[in-house]
Amino acid sequence: MLYYSLNKTAPIEDFKTATIAGQAPDKGLYFPQSIPQVSQKMLDDIENYSNAAIAYDVIKPFVGDVIPEDVLKNIVEETVNFNIPLVQLSDSIYSLELFHGPTLAFKDVGARFMSRCLGYFAKEKTEKIVVLVATSGDTGGAVANGFYDVPGIEVVILYPSGKVSSVQEKQLTTLGKNIHAIEVNGSFDDCQKMVKETFMDEALKKKVFLTSANSINVARWLPQQFYYYFLWKQWQDKNNHPTTAVPSGNLGNICAGLLAQKAGLPIKHFIAACNANDTVPEFFNTGIYKPKPALATISNAMDVGNPSNFVRILEMFGSENALKNSLSSVSITDEATAETLLKVFKQNNYLLDPHGAVAYTALQTYLAGKPTEKGVILETAHPVKFYDVIEPIIKEPVPIPAAIAAQLQLEKNSFKMEADGRKLREWLVGMG
Ligand SMILES: *Cc1c(COP(=O)(O)O)cnc(C)c1O
Repeated sequence: MLYYSLNKTAPIEDFKTATIAGQAPDKGLYFPQSIPQVSQKMLDDIENYSNAAIAYDVIKPFVGDVIPEDVLKNIVEETVNFNIPLVQLSDSIYSLELFHGPTLAFKDVGARFMSRCLGYFAKEKTEKIVVLVATSGDTGGAVANGFYDVPGIEVVILYPSGKVSSVQEKQLTTLGKNIHAIEVNGSFDDCQKMVKETFMDEALKKKVFLTSANSINVARWLPQQFYYYFLWKQWQDKNNHPTTAVPSGNLGNICAGLLAQKAGLPIKHFIAACNANDTVPEFFNTGIYKPKPALATISNAMDVGNPSNFVRILEMFGSENALKNSLSSVSITDEATAETLLKVFKQNNYLLDPHGAVAYTALQTYLAGKPTEKGVILETAHPVKFYDVIEPIIKEPVPIPAAIAAQLQLEKNSFKMEADGRKLREWLVGMG
C-alpha cells in the first residue's frame, strides 16, 4: 500500500515512511491510495476469529511488506491483548468498552500499534528517534505507556501544568526510563505551539531525529478500525445493522470506523457526537466548514475547534450526499451530558464517562421514533479518569480500580519549563 498527501504536492510513500514522517513534507495528511475490501469469509465467520486474527487481516494490506509477517502478527497480538466487550445498556443501546487497556482510554490501541511499528523501524536506524508530542490529557498517557522501554526511542511529552487530571498526570510522569514529561507553565495551546515551532526548526532536525505521535499518524489512525470489527463479532442481530455513535474531537476514531465501513463492515450509520465544539455539526447544518477556537467542556478530550481528520473524511466520500448517508453529527451541551450521565447511572446502573455520555445522548436522540433500530456507543474512557467531573454529578465517589490507586501513590517526575519554544529546543539538543 502506498500513501499520498491530501495536499497533493508531496511524493507518494509506503507505510514505513509515512509512519516515521507522521505528516507529509507539504503538511498534508497521508491517505491510502485504495481501500482494500475485507474478505466476505471473515465477515460471515467472524465469531470464530480471534481478535488478533481479525486485526491482522484488517491491517495487513495497509502495512504491505515493510514489516515481515511474523513481526506484524506479534505487533497486532500485543496491540489487542485486552478485553473490548460489548455491553447491553438498554433494549436498543449497547456500549463498546474501549477502556480496558493500560491507560484506560481507546487511544491505547493506536498508541500500542504505532509504538511497536516505530520500534521495529528504529532497529534499522543508528541514531535515536525522538517522539515529541503535546497532550491535553489522554494522548500523553497512551503514548508514554505504548513507547515505554522501546529500544531506540526517546519520548518527550509536553503537558500544561495543573490542567490535566491527577490520573492523567501520574500516567505521564511516573514511568521514567525513556519517557520524559515536561510540565509547561502554560496552556495546551502553548504546548502545541512549542511542538510546532520545534518541527519547523530545520537546523535542530539535523541534530535530533524527531517525529510526532499525534493522532494524524497513519500508524495510530488505521489500527483504530480493529474494534469496529470486534463490535460486529459480538453483535447478535446480524440482520439488523447497528448505528454507531462515536465521541468525537479530532475525528480520528470515527474516521477509522468510516474506513472499515468502506472496506465492507456492515455498520448502518455513524454519528459524530460532539460537545459544544460544533464545527462538524455546523458543517452538516450549513454545508460550510468553519474552524473555531476550542471551548472548554466537561468532555475535555473532545475540545477541538478544527478537527484534523475532517479532510480525510471528505476524501473518503466524493459527494455530500454520500457523506450524509454514512454520517451525521450533533452537538450536545454539558447540561444534557450531565443529565444523561446521571440518568443512565440511576436507571441502567451503568456509569458512563463524560465522553461516552455525549455519545449516549446523541444516539438516544437519533433512535427516537425508530423502534426497530439499535445502536452502539463507543465508551472511549474509563469513568475513573474523569472522577473529578463525575462525582459532583452523581453525588457519590467513583470507585478507583486497584491499579489506578497504586499509580496515584507513585511519585511524579516532571521537568518544569516556561512556555518558551527556545527552552524546549535547547533541552532537546542536550538530550541528543
Ligand atoms: C481523544 C478522545 C476522544 C476524541 O477522539 P478523536 O479520535 O480525536 O475524535 C474522545 N474521547 C476520549 C476519552 C478521548 O481521549
